[in-house]
Amino acid sequence: MKQIDLILAGGDVLTMNEEFDIFSPGAVAVQEDEIVAVGTPDDVTARYNADEVVDCTGSAVIPGLINGHTHAPMTLLRGLADDLRLDVWLMGYMMPVEREFVQPDFCWLGTQLACAEMFRSGITCFGDMYYYEEAVADATAEAGMRAVCAQSILKFPTPDAASYDEGLRLAHDFVARWAGHKLIVPAIGPHAAYTATAGMLQQSKGLALEYDVPIHIHIAETEQEVKEQMEAHDMAVVPWIEQQGLLEAKVTAHHCVHLEEAELRIFQTRGAGIAHNPSSNLKLSSGFAPVAKMLRLGIPVAIGTDGAASNNDLDLVEEMRLAALLAKGITNDPTALPARQALAMATRLGAEALHIADRTGSLEAGKRADIAIVDLERLHLTPRFHRQSDSLYSLLVYSAKSSDVCHVLCDGRWVMRDQELLTLDVEDLRRRAAKVARRIDHFLMEREESVLSKLVAIGGVDRVETFEVQVKVHLQNEDGVEEMLEKEEIPVVRSSWRHQYDTYLLFGDLEKSRLRYREDEILDEDGDIEEIVYRLTLIGETKDREFDRSIVLSRSRFDAPATHSRRFYREYFQPVDEAQIHKDRRRYHIRYGGTDFAINLDRVTKPKLAGVFLEIKSRTWSAQDAERKAELMGELLGLFDVQQEVVKQEYVDLAKGQA
Ligand SMILES: [Zn+2]
Repeated sequence: MKQIDLILAGGDVLTMNEEFDIFSPGAVAVQEDEIVAVGTPDDVTARYNADEVVDCTGSAVIPGLINGHTHAPMTLLRGLADDLRLDVWLMGYMMPVEREFVQPDFCWLGTQLACAEMFRSGITCFGDMYYYEEAVADATAEAGMRAVCAQSILKFPTPDAASYDEGLRLAHDFVARWAGHKLIVPAIGPHAAYTATAGMLQQSKGLALEYDVPIHIHIAETEQEVKEQMEAHDMAVVPWIEQQGLLEAKVTAHHCVHLEEAELRIFQTRGAGIAHNPSSNLKLSSGFAPVAKMLRLGIPVAIGTDGAASNNDLDLVEEMRLAALLAKGITNDPTALPARQALAMATRLGAEALHIADRTGSLEAGKRADIAIVDLERLHLTPRFHRQSDSLYSLLVYSAKSSDVCHVLCDGRWVMRDQELLTLDVEDLRRRAAKVARRIDHFLMEREESVLSKLVAIGGVDRVETFEVQVKVHLQNEDGVEEMLEKEEIPVVRSSWRHQYDTYLLFGDLEKSRLRYREDEILDEDGDIEEIVYRLTLIGETKDREFDRSIVLSRSRFDAPATHSRRFYREYFQPVDEAQIHKDRRRYHIRYGGTDFAINLDRVTKPKLAGVFLEIKSRTWSAQDAERKAELMGELLGLFDVQQEVVKQEYVDLAKGQA
């Protein structure tokens, strides 16, 4: 008789091995970090004597669940901004907050919080990708949890790397330091195909092969991404990453919502795993991953929660149920993804997808002792049927809740007993998380105080103000002005013709700012579109000073190329009102009195305003200069022989007057 550490005796043991063996009742023998035997209680107790025997009668003994994909530190961003479109959520909120707050201590705390939450739902291993992965790995190891930790690399600056070279260097140091660790499998995380360059993927692959570590990457999460990929590389995403050699490494691809069958076949032949994230895909409205098809092709598919900011929890029991239901819903087939398969995805297949099936994912001798014990004697799990063993899978996937998990063993160590976490101080974590939340709240409240600070937060503009001297005159027609511009006294340096489509986002009386989104169709002589330019201009309290003839000095204009869509700005800034102005503009750059002026002749087509508007403007930087330019403008108005009314308002006010 051999003396060992622990026997879990009685209870239904679901091994989740390839044969789906169930011992009912069963027993699991554990010595140090390893499972040494699984079988009937008689068989196991005949061979082993244990220091500790835990009676599991009335419970299910299952492999610790595997969360295939998450961003653990994002627990600290849970519920920060929800019910938004992906780009507004990501670029409007997540990234600015991450830029400001994501530091090693943030990642460490967020990860510990995540480990606590995951242990509670029976998870003993997770696949992670974030910044400062060093801190994530450290916090996870300290919690006694297993993880595959991928250091993110992006082609843009990130909270932990100013460039992708630096990101690669970080990833290199990280895998070198953690390779061979008992609990942590370090990995390389080129974030996604659309945030990578070809060279970056090739270098990531080289690093992964050199250290024999996995690669984690987001693939085809949204339709938009797939479309842009095609436009950029004239090739679908999976063949493209294959061309960079990425699939020579052990790859885990996250999401894979919009993949063609041919792409899935490439994954299958190259041995890549997939992490399916049902809650996140639903919440961000990304689409429905063809999970049943992936499984039919024999691809190992894990179930993931994704980060807590897009889920918003790390509950894999809930996620399993959702994966099974969703697969039935989208295939119109209630036999798709049965409960047994869903539990396999959360255990053995999950381990395969993460390329760690040699050590975890099933209850088999020789694997690490990662075990969850689920209380089956709960009201919502009553009654039980014994006719078919599959009813146990149904019970666990369709009826059980994560709160039914009562004990968890990870790498042979008790991390939760009677629902009490033994390696983590929950109260302390909660207190510290609340403190971080207060700081983030404060940061966002300050940012939301003005349109300008919100604009700066998304990298919208430089903080440089411009000043302009300008006058606008309403004329019957352009004849007089055009005639004048042909004369020698006012030499035209260059001219252009364009259609301008302006959307003004208005913020009410309290805030006098206006944000103008301008689409400029620049036309050639025949009126064909030559180029389209998008600009965003923040127009603050405009009038600073008024000279004779209603010539005004205006200020507070922040101007930059518009890098997002109009829809993005609308959803991000949430204006109280909006105005649309369309016009046909002839622009002349002239020199007069040694000074440059722009002369615009505008016909406003939406809303329909009669006549034509003459606008004269010039940039200025000092009060003295403004005065001189105002004088010259007055002279110009005289030259143009303007008898018509001088307009004091902006187009947007004129338009409102019309409405
Ligand atoms: Zn993700």
